[in-house]
Amino acid sequence: RKQSMVQAGRPRANTTEEIARRHLLQPWPVAGSIGAEARGLIGEGDGIYVVDGEGRRLIDGPAGMWCTNVGHRNQELAGVMYEQAMALSYNTPWYTMNEPSAALAARIAAHAPGDLDHVFFTTGGSSAVETALRFMQFYNNVRGRPDKKMVVSRGGAYHGSTYLSASLNGRPRDRDWMDGADGLVVKLSCPDPFRRPAGMSVEAFRDLLVQEFRDTVERIGPDRIGAFVGEPVMASGGVIVPPEGYLPAIRDICRENDILFIADEVVTAFGRLGHVFASKDVFGIEPDMITFAKGVTSGYFPLGGVVISGALVEEMRRSNHADAMFAHGLTYSSHPVGCAVALKNLDLLENGILEHAGAIAPYFQQRLKTLEELPLVGEVRGLGLMACVECVADRESRNPLALDNEVGKRIDAHCHELGLLVRPLIHMCVMSPPLIITRDQIDDMVAILHEGISRTMDDLRAEGLW
Ligand code: PMP
Repeated sequence: RKQSMVQAGRPRANTTEEIARRHLLQPWPVAGSIGAEARGLIGEGDGIYVVDGEGRRLIDGPAGMWCTNVGHRNQELAGVMYEQAMALSYNTPWYTMNEPSAALAARIAAHAPGDLDHVFFTTGGSSAVETALRFMQFYNNVRGRPDKKMVVSRGGAYHGSTYLSASLNGRPRDRDWMDGADGLVVKLSCPDPFRRPAGMSVEAFRDLLVQEFRDTVERIGPDRIGAFVGEPVMASGGVIVPPEGYLPAIRDICRENDILFIADEVVTAFGRLGHVFASKDVFGIEPDMITFAKGVTSGYFPLGGVVISGALVEEMRRSNHADAMFAHGLTYSSHPVGCAVALKNLDLLENGILEHAGAIAPYFQQRLKTLEELPLVGEVRGLGLMACVECVADRESRNPLALDNEVGKRIDAHCHELGLLVRPLIHMCVMSPPLIITRDQIDDMVAILHEGISRTMDDLRAEGLW
Protein backbone atom coordinates (compact mmCIF):
# COMPACT_ATOMS: atom_id res chain seq x y z
CA ARG A 1 0.00 0.00 0.00
CA LYS A 2 1.56 3.23 -1.14
CA GLN A 3 0.90 6.36 0.80
CA SER A 4 1.65 9.98 0.11
CA MET A 5 5.00 11.11 1.43
CA VAL A 6 4.25 14.75 0.95
CA GLN A 7 3.70 16.27 4.35
CA ALA A 8 3.33 19.78 5.57
CA GLY A 9 6.03 21.08 7.91
CA ARG A 10 9.09 19.27 9.20
CA PRO A 11 9.60 15.54 8.72
CA ARG A 12 8.79 13.62 11.89
CA ALA A 13 11.56 11.22 12.84
CA ASN A 14 9.37 8.18 13.38
CA THR A 15 7.51 8.58 10.08
CA THR A 16 10.70 9.17 8.12
CA GLU A 17 12.36 6.16 9.75
CA GLU A 18 9.44 3.97 8.83
CA ILE A 19 9.46 5.11 5.20
CA ALA A 20 13.25 4.77 4.96
CA ARG A 21 13.16 1.21 6.30
CA ARG A 22 10.64 0.27 3.67
CA HIS A 23 11.87 2.11 0.61
CA LEU A 24 15.22 3.87 0.95
CA LEU A 25 18.48 2.22 -0.05
CA GLN A 26 21.19 3.98 1.94
CA PRO A 27 24.79 4.29 0.75
CA TRP A 28 27.38 1.96 2.34
CA PRO A 29 24.98 -0.52 3.98
CA VAL A 30 25.99 -3.92 5.32
CA ALA A 31 24.17 -6.85 3.72
CA GLY A 32 22.18 -7.68 6.84
CA SER A 33 20.47 -4.30 6.93
CA ILE A 34 20.33 -3.48 3.23
CA GLY A 35 17.12 -1.70 2.36
CA ALA A 36 15.87 -1.89 5.94
CA GLU A 37 17.89 0.71 7.76
CA ALA A 38 17.02 4.07 9.25
CA ARG A 39 19.79 6.49 10.09
CA GLY A 40 19.94 9.55 12.28
CA LEU A 41 17.59 12.13 10.84
CA ILE A 42 18.89 15.63 10.22
CA GLY A 43 16.14 18.21 9.94
CA GLU A 44 17.95 21.46 9.31
CA GLY A 45 21.30 23.20 9.38
CA ASP A 46 22.59 26.64 10.30
CA GLY A 47 26.22 27.75 10.16
CA ILE A 48 28.37 25.03 11.76
CA TYR A 49 25.30 23.39 13.35
CA VAL A 50 22.71 20.86 12.28
CA VAL A 51 19.53 19.91 14.10
CA ASP A 52 18.61 16.24 14.47
CA GLY A 53 15.17 14.61 14.35
CA GLU A 54 14.67 15.20 18.06
CA GLY A 55 15.47 18.88 17.78
CA ARG A 56 18.95 18.54 19.27
CA ARG A 57 21.49 21.06 17.96
CA LEU A 58 24.80 19.46 17.00
CA ILE A 59 28.13 20.83 15.80
CA ASP A 60 28.66 19.42 12.30
CA GLY A 61 32.11 18.03 13.14
CA PRO A 62 32.82 16.43 9.75
CA ALA A 63 31.12 19.24 7.70
CA GLY A 64 28.83 16.62 6.21
CA MET A 65 31.37 14.61 4.27
CA TRP A 66 34.15 17.21 4.23
CA CYS A 67 31.97 19.45 2.12
CA THR A 68 29.82 22.11 3.85
CA ASN A 69 32.79 24.49 3.82
CA VAL A 70 31.04 27.86 4.13
CA GLY A 71 28.48 26.35 6.52
CA HIS A 72 24.78 25.60 6.36
CA ARG A 73 21.99 28.07 5.52
CA ASN A 74 24.15 30.48 3.60
CA GLN A 75 21.68 32.93 2.11
CA GLU A 76 23.93 34.02 -0.73
CA LEU A 77 24.41 30.48 -1.98
CA ALA A 78 20.72 29.71 -1.60
CA GLY A 79 19.85 32.95 -3.39
CA VAL A 80 22.12 32.34 -6.34
CA MET A 81 20.69 28.83 -6.78
CA TYR A 82 17.21 30.29 -7.00
CA GLU A 83 18.25 33.07 -9.36
CA GLN A 84 20.17 30.78 -11.71
CA ALA A 85 17.35 28.22 -11.75
CA MET A 86 14.94 30.99 -12.68
CA ALA A 87 17.28 32.32 -15.39
CA LEU A 88 18.37 28.99 -16.88
CA SER A 89 17.91 25.72 -15.04
CA TYR A 90 19.60 23.49 -17.61
CA ASN A 91 21.16 23.39 -21.05
CA THR A 92 22.58 20.42 -22.87
CA PRO A 93 26.39 20.44 -22.83
CA TRP A 94 26.36 18.23 -25.93
CA TYR A 95 26.02 21.17 -28.33
CA THR A 96 25.34 24.29 -26.25
CA MET A 97 27.06 26.05 -23.37
CA ASN A 98 26.21 28.41 -20.54
CA GLU A 99 27.92 31.45 -19.10
CA PRO A 100 28.45 30.33 -15.47
CA SER A 101 30.45 27.23 -16.47
CA ALA A 102 32.84 29.21 -18.67
CA ALA A 103 33.26 31.85 -15.96
CA LEU A 104 33.87 29.20 -13.30
CA ALA A 105 36.42 27.35 -15.47
CA ALA A 106 38.37 30.61 -15.83
CA ARG A 107 38.19 31.35 -12.08
CA ILE A 108 39.36 27.84 -11.19
CA ALA A 109 42.15 27.96 -13.78
CA ALA A 110 43.38 31.21 -12.24
CA HIS A 111 43.76 29.44 -8.87
CA ALA A 112 45.25 26.22 -10.23
CA PRO A 113 49.03 25.75 -10.26
CA GLY A 114 51.34 25.76 -13.27
CA ASP A 115 49.68 25.44 -16.63
CA LEU A 116 46.56 23.71 -15.35
CA ASP A 117 44.20 25.91 -17.29
CA HIS A 118 41.35 23.73 -18.61
CA VAL A 119 38.43 22.41 -16.56
CA PHE A 120 36.01 19.54 -17.26
CA PHE A 121 32.97 19.60 -14.94
CA THR A 122 31.38 16.48 -13.52
CA THR A 123 28.72 15.62 -10.93
CA GLY A 124 31.00 14.88 -7.98
CA GLY A 125 34.30 13.36 -6.90
CA SER A 126 33.93 9.82 -8.25
CA SER A 127 33.00 11.09 -11.69
CA ALA A 128 35.91 13.56 -11.49
CA VAL A 129 38.41 10.74 -10.82
CA GLU A 130 36.73 8.60 -13.46
CA THR A 131 37.06 11.47 -15.96
CA ALA A 132 40.73 12.03 -15.12
CA LEU A 133 41.48 8.35 -15.69
CA ARG A 134 39.59 8.28 -18.97
CA PHE A 135 41.52 11.37 -20.10
CA MET A 136 44.73 9.50 -19.27
CA GLN A 137 43.57 6.53 -21.34
CA PHE A 138 42.47 8.65 -24.28
CA TYR A 139 45.65 10.74 -24.12
CA ASN A 140 47.80 7.62 -24.39
CA ASN A 141 45.61 6.15 -27.13
CA VAL A 142 45.90 9.18 -29.38
CA ARG A 143 49.64 9.40 -28.68
CA GLY A 144 50.00 5.83 -29.93
CA ARG A 145 50.78 4.37 -26.49
CA PRO A 146 47.83 2.01 -25.98
CA ASP A 147 49.72 -0.10 -23.43
CA LYS A 148 50.45 2.81 -21.08
CA LYS A 149 47.31 2.57 -18.96
CA MET A 150 48.08 1.13 -15.56
CA VAL A 151 47.30 3.30 -12.56
CA VAL A 152 49.32 3.49 -9.37
CA SER A 153 47.33 4.03 -6.19
CA ARG A 154 48.00 3.43 -2.49
CA GLY A 155 46.81 1.47 0.50
CA GLY A 156 44.34 3.53 2.55
CA ALA A 157 43.26 5.61 -0.46
CA TYR A 158 39.67 6.51 -1.27
CA HIS A 159 38.88 7.79 -4.73
CA GLY A 160 35.22 7.02 -5.31
CA SER A 161 32.36 4.61 -5.85
CA THR A 162 32.22 4.23 -9.63
CA TYR A 163 33.87 1.17 -11.14
CA LEU A 164 37.19 2.68 -12.21
CA SER A 165 37.55 5.15 -9.35
CA ALA A 166 36.61 2.47 -6.80
CA SER A 167 39.24 0.18 -8.29
CA LEU A 168 41.82 2.56 -6.85
CA ASN A 169 40.48 2.34 -3.30
CA GLY A 170 42.96 0.95 -0.84
CA ARG A 171 41.04 0.25 2.36
CA PRO A 172 40.25 -3.45 2.78
CA ARG A 173 36.61 -2.87 3.71
CA ASP A 174 36.08 -0.95 0.44
CA ARG A 175 37.39 -3.95 -1.46
CA ASP A 176 36.49 -7.11 0.41
CA TRP A 177 33.09 -7.74 -1.14
CA MET A 178 33.33 -5.57 -4.23
CA ASP A 179 34.84 -6.12 -7.67
CA GLY A 180 37.19 -3.76 -9.44
CA ALA A 181 39.36 -3.36 -12.53
CA ASP A 182 42.20 -5.11 -10.70
CA GLY A 183 44.40 -5.70 -13.74
CA LEU A 184 44.58 -1.97 -14.23
CA VAL A 185 45.74 -0.92 -10.79
CA VAL A 186 48.89 -1.41 -8.74
CA LYS A 187 49.02 -0.35 -5.09
CA LEU A 188 51.83 1.19 -3.11
CA SER A 189 52.06 1.27 0.68
CA CYS A 190 50.08 3.81 2.64
CA PRO A 191 52.37 6.75 3.57
CA ASP A 192 51.21 6.77 7.19
CA PRO A 193 54.05 7.90 9.47
CA PHE A 194 52.14 6.64 12.57
CA ARG A 195 52.21 3.11 11.16
CA ARG A 196 55.84 3.15 9.97
CA PRO A 197 58.05 0.21 10.98
CA ALA A 198 59.11 0.37 14.63
CA GLY A 199 62.39 2.16 15.22
CA MET A 200 62.48 3.78 11.78
CA SER A 201 62.80 7.55 11.37
CA VAL A 202 60.14 9.40 9.37
CA GLU A 203 62.82 10.36 6.82
CA ALA A 204 63.91 6.76 6.34
CA PHE A 205 60.26 5.77 6.03
CA ARG A 206 59.77 8.40 3.33
CA ASP A 207 62.80 7.11 1.42
CA LEU A 208 61.46 3.58 1.65
CA LEU A 209 58.11 4.68 0.18
CA VAL A 210 59.77 6.59 -2.64
CA GLN A 211 62.01 3.62 -3.42
CA GLU A 212 58.95 1.37 -3.51
CA PHE A 213 57.49 3.60 -6.24
CA ARG A 214 60.78 3.54 -8.19
CA ASP A 215 60.94 -0.25 -7.94
CA THR A 216 57.31 -0.55 -9.03
CA VAL A 217 57.89 1.61 -12.10
CA GLU A 218 60.92 -0.47 -12.97
CA ARG A 219 59.14 -3.79 -12.40
CA ILE A 220 56.05 -2.95 -14.44
CA GLY A 221 57.81 -0.71 -16.94
CA PRO A 222 57.25 3.01 -17.48
CA ASP A 223 55.72 2.26 -20.89
CA ARG A 224 52.86 0.44 -19.13
CA ILE A 225 52.07 2.98 -16.37
CA GLY A 226 49.79 5.86 -17.29
CA ALA A 227 49.18 7.64 -14.01
CA PHE A 228 49.79 7.95 -10.31
CA VAL A 229 46.66 9.03 -8.40
CA GLY A 230 46.90 10.31 -4.84
CA GLU A 231 45.18 12.49 -2.27
CA PRO A 232 47.74 15.04 -0.99
CA VAL A 233 46.36 14.32 2.48
CA MET A 234 44.59 10.97 2.57
CA ALA A 235 41.18 11.87 3.94
CA SER A 236 38.91 8.86 4.50
CA GLY A 237 41.97 6.70 5.17
CA GLY A 238 42.35 8.66 8.43
CA VAL A 239 43.73 12.12 7.61
CA ILE A 240 47.17 10.83 6.71
CA VAL A 241 49.66 13.62 6.15
CA PRO A 242 52.58 12.10 4.22
CA PRO A 243 56.19 12.64 5.32
CA GLU A 244 57.78 15.89 4.23
CA GLY A 245 59.29 15.61 0.75
CA TYR A 246 57.30 12.49 -0.17
CA LEU A 247 54.93 14.12 -2.67
CA PRO A 248 57.64 16.12 -4.51
CA ALA A 249 59.72 12.93 -4.83
CA ILE A 250 56.76 10.99 -6.27
CA ARG A 251 56.07 13.91 -8.59
CA ASP A 252 59.68 13.81 -9.87
CA ILE A 253 59.56 10.09 -10.58
CA CYS A 254 56.34 10.61 -12.54
CA ARG A 255 57.93 13.34 -14.64
CA GLU A 256 61.05 11.23 -15.31
CA ASN A 257 58.87 8.37 -16.54
CA ASP A 258 56.16 10.21 -18.46
CA ILE A 259 53.58 9.15 -15.88
CA LEU A 260 50.74 11.59 -15.24
CA PHE A 261 50.46 12.81 -11.67
CA ILE A 262 46.78 13.16 -10.74
CA ALA A 263 46.20 14.91 -7.42
CA ASP A 264 42.82 13.97 -5.98
CA GLU A 265 41.90 17.17 -4.17
CA VAL A 266 38.23 16.31 -3.72
CA VAL A 267 38.69 16.95 0.01
CA THR A 268 41.76 19.21 0.19
CA ALA A 269 40.66 21.84 -2.36
CA PHE A 270 38.42 24.85 -1.75
CA GLY A 271 39.68 25.87 1.63
CA ARG A 272 40.14 22.77 3.79
CA LEU A 273 43.90 23.46 3.91
CA GLY A 274 43.53 27.25 3.69
CA HIS A 275 43.93 27.51 -0.10
CA VAL A 276 41.79 26.91 -3.17
CA PHE A 277 44.20 24.11 -4.17
CA ALA A 278 46.72 22.52 -1.82
CA SER A 279 49.04 20.83 -4.34
CA LYS A 280 51.26 23.82 -4.99
CA ASP A 281 50.41 26.14 -2.12
CA VAL A 282 50.86 23.53 0.62
CA PHE A 283 52.99 20.77 -0.92
CA GLY A 284 54.93 22.60 -3.64
CA ILE A 285 53.91 20.30 -6.48
CA GLU A 286 52.37 20.92 -9.88
CA PRO A 287 50.25 17.93 -10.92
CA ASP A 288 49.16 17.16 -14.49
CA MET A 289 45.54 16.99 -13.36
CA ILE A 290 43.67 17.92 -10.18
CA THR A 291 40.27 16.47 -9.32
CA PHE A 292 37.90 18.46 -7.11
CA ALA A 293 34.28 18.28 -5.83
CA LYS A 294 32.61 18.74 -2.42
CA GLY A 295 33.86 22.17 -1.25
CA VAL A 296 33.55 23.66 -4.76
CA THR A 297 29.86 24.30 -3.95
CA SER A 298 30.18 23.80 -0.17
CA GLY A 299 27.93 20.80 -0.73
CA TYR A 300 24.96 22.90 -1.89
CA PHE A 301 24.92 21.31 -5.35
CA PRO A 302 26.50 18.08 -6.67
CA LEU A 303 29.42 19.32 -8.73
CA GLY A 304 32.99 18.19 -9.33
CA GLY A 305 35.59 18.41 -12.01
CA VAL A 306 39.10 17.94 -13.30
CA VAL A 307 41.61 20.69 -13.97
CA ILE A 308 43.94 19.63 -16.75
CA SER A 309 47.26 20.96 -17.89
CA GLY A 310 47.28 23.01 -21.07
CA ALA A 311 50.24 20.99 -22.33
CA LEU A 312 48.20 17.81 -22.14
CA VAL A 313 45.23 19.37 -23.88
CA GLU A 314 47.53 20.69 -26.57
CA GLU A 315 49.11 17.27 -27.09
CA MET A 316 45.73 15.61 -27.53
CA ARG A 317 44.68 18.30 -29.98
CA ARG A 318 47.87 17.96 -31.99
CA SER A 319 47.92 14.17 -32.15
CA ASN A 320 47.74 12.32 -35.46
CA HIS A 321 44.15 11.40 -34.64
CA ALA A 322 42.31 14.69 -34.91
CA ASP A 323 39.06 12.82 -35.57
CA ALA A 324 39.29 10.58 -32.48
CA MET A 325 36.48 11.43 -30.07
CA PHE A 326 36.92 11.62 -26.31
CA ALA A 327 33.58 9.85 -25.91
CA HIS A 328 32.96 10.93 -22.35
CA GLY A 329 30.44 13.36 -20.94
CA LEU A 330 27.65 13.61 -18.42
CA THR A 331 24.16 15.01 -18.79
CA TYR A 332 25.00 17.34 -15.94
CA SER A 333 28.52 18.33 -17.08
CA SER A 334 28.84 22.13 -16.75
CA HIS A 335 25.46 22.42 -14.99
CA PRO A 336 24.51 26.12 -14.90
CA VAL A 337 23.03 26.03 -11.38
CA GLY A 338 26.00 24.13 -9.92
CA CYS A 339 28.49 26.44 -11.62
CA ALA A 340 26.63 29.57 -10.47
CA VAL A 341 26.66 28.31 -6.88
CA ALA A 342 30.37 27.50 -7.19
CA LEU A 343 31.13 31.03 -8.45
CA LYS A 344 29.38 32.56 -5.43
CA ASN A 345 31.05 30.04 -3.13
CA LEU A 346 34.43 31.07 -4.54
CA ASP A 347 33.54 34.73 -3.86
CA LEU A 348 32.88 33.85 -0.23
CA LEU A 349 36.11 31.86 0.08
CA GLU A 350 38.19 34.60 -1.54
CA ASN A 351 36.58 37.34 0.54
CA GLY A 352 37.60 36.16 3.97
CA ILE A 353 36.84 32.49 4.52
CA LEU A 354 40.14 31.14 3.11
CA GLU A 355 42.01 33.62 5.23
CA HIS A 356 39.99 32.69 8.31
CA ALA A 357 40.52 28.95 7.67
CA GLY A 358 44.27 29.44 7.37
CA ALA A 359 44.46 31.65 10.45
CA ILE A 360 42.38 29.45 12.74
CA ALA A 361 43.88 26.10 11.66
CA PRO A 362 46.82 26.13 14.13
CA TYR A 363 44.40 26.73 17.02
CA PHE A 364 42.16 23.89 15.78
CA GLN A 365 45.10 21.47 15.58
CA GLN A 366 46.60 22.58 18.88
CA ARG A 367 43.31 22.23 20.80
CA LEU A 368 42.59 18.79 19.33
CA LYS A 369 46.14 17.67 20.13
CA THR A 370 45.31 18.04 23.85
CA LEU A 371 43.14 14.91 23.48
CA GLU A 372 46.37 12.91 23.42
CA GLU A 373 46.29 13.15 27.23
CA LEU A 374 43.54 10.51 27.13
CA PRO A 375 45.07 7.02 27.28
CA LEU A 376 42.70 5.63 24.63
CA VAL A 377 44.08 8.12 22.10
CA GLY A 378 47.15 6.95 20.22
CA GLU A 379 47.60 10.02 18.08
CA VAL A 380 45.88 13.20 17.00
CA ARG A 381 47.13 14.36 13.63
CA GLY A 382 46.05 16.62 10.85
CA LEU A 383 46.64 19.67 8.73
CA GLY A 384 44.58 22.79 8.10
CA LEU A 385 41.00 22.16 9.16
CA MET A 386 41.13 18.39 8.89
CA ALA A 387 42.18 16.15 11.75
CA CYS A 388 41.89 12.61 13.02
CA VAL A 389 41.84 11.14 16.52
CA GLU A 390 43.16 7.57 16.33
CA CYS A 391 42.38 5.22 19.22
CA VAL A 392 44.72 2.39 20.18
CA ALA A 393 44.76 -0.47 22.69
CA ASP A 394 47.95 0.93 24.17
CA ARG A 395 50.18 3.70 23.12
CA GLU A 396 53.43 1.78 23.40
CA SER A 397 52.58 -0.91 20.85
CA ARG A 398 50.16 1.29 18.87
CA ASN A 399 48.16 -1.89 18.41
CA PRO A 400 44.58 -1.38 17.39
CA LEU A 401 41.87 -2.30 19.87
CA ALA A 402 40.36 -5.75 19.57
CA LEU A 403 36.91 -4.19 19.39
CA ASP A 404 38.05 -1.67 16.81
CA ASN A 405 34.77 -1.55 14.98
CA GLU A 406 32.94 -0.37 18.02
CA VAL A 407 35.16 2.35 19.41
CA GLY A 408 34.41 5.08 16.88
CA LYS A 409 30.69 4.30 17.05
CA ARG A 410 30.69 4.50 20.85
CA ILE A 411 32.48 7.84 20.85
CA ASP A 412 30.07 9.10 18.21
CA ALA A 413 27.05 8.02 20.28
CA HIS A 414 28.31 9.81 23.41
CA CYS A 415 29.24 12.94 21.46
CA HIS A 416 25.81 12.98 19.81
CA GLU A 417 24.20 13.12 23.26
CA LEU A 418 26.53 16.00 24.11
CA GLY A 419 25.96 17.99 20.90
CA LEU A 420 28.59 16.97 18.36
CA LEU A 421 28.44 14.92 15.17
CA VAL A 422 31.53 12.75 14.81
CA ARG A 423 32.41 10.79 11.73
CA PRO A 424 33.58 7.47 13.12
CA LEU A 425 35.97 5.56 10.87
CA ILE A 426 36.36 2.23 12.65
CA HIS A 427 38.69 3.25 15.50
CA MET A 428 39.20 6.82 14.31
CA CYS A 429 37.21 10.04 14.62
CA VAL A 430 37.57 12.57 11.85
CA MET A 431 37.07 16.27 12.50
CA SER A 432 36.74 18.61 9.52
CA PRO A 433 34.20 21.29 10.50
CA PRO A 434 32.84 24.07 8.30
CA LEU A 435 35.65 26.55 7.66
CA ILE A 436 33.73 29.36 9.38
CA ILE A 437 34.18 27.76 12.81
CA THR A 438 35.28 30.19 15.54
CA ARG A 439 37.69 29.72 18.46
CA ASP A 440 34.83 29.37 20.94
CA GLN A 441 33.17 26.78 18.77
CA ILE A 442 36.46 24.87 18.48
CA ASP A 443 36.66 24.91 22.29
CA ASP A 444 33.11 23.50 22.49
CA MET A 445 33.92 20.83 19.93
CA VAL A 446 37.08 19.70 21.71
CA ALA A 447 35.39 19.73 25.14
CA ILE A 448 32.61 17.49 23.85
CA LEU A 449 35.04 15.15 22.14
CA HIS A 450 37.08 14.94 25.35
CA GLU A 451 33.99 14.03 27.34
CA GLY A 452 32.76 11.58 24.68
CA ILE A 453 36.09 9.73 24.65
CA SER A 454 36.27 9.77 28.48
CA ARG A 455 32.79 8.22 28.70
CA THR A 456 33.80 5.61 26.13
CA MET A 457 36.87 4.72 28.22
CA ASP A 458 34.63 4.35 31.29
CA ASP A 459 32.28 2.05 29.39
CA LEU A 460 35.09 -0.09 28.04
CA ARG A 461 36.61 -0.45 31.52
CA ALA A 462 33.24 -1.25 33.09
CA GLU A 463 32.63 -3.94 30.48
CA GLY A 464 36.13 -5.35 30.95
CA LEU A 465 36.98 -4.66 27.31
CA TRP A 466 39.98 -2.43 27.85
N1 PMP B 1 38.06 11.37 -3.82
C1 PMP B 1 38.19 11.62 -2.52
C2 PMP B 1 39.54 11.97 -1.98
C3 PMP B 1 37.07 11.55 -1.66
O1 PMP B 1 37.22 11.76 -0.36
C4 PMP B 1 35.81 11.24 -2.23
C5 PMP B 1 34.54 11.20 -1.39
N2 PMP B 1 34.66 11.04 -0.07
C6 PMP B 1 35.73 10.99 -3.59
C7 PMP B 1 36.87 11.07 -4.37
C8 PMP B 1 34.42 10.64 -4.23
O2 PMP B 1 33.62 11.75 -4.30
P1 PMP B 1 32.02 11.63 -4.47
O3 PMP B 1 31.52 10.95 -3.25
O4 PMP B 1 31.59 13.05 -4.61
O5 PMP B 1 31.75 10.85 -5.70
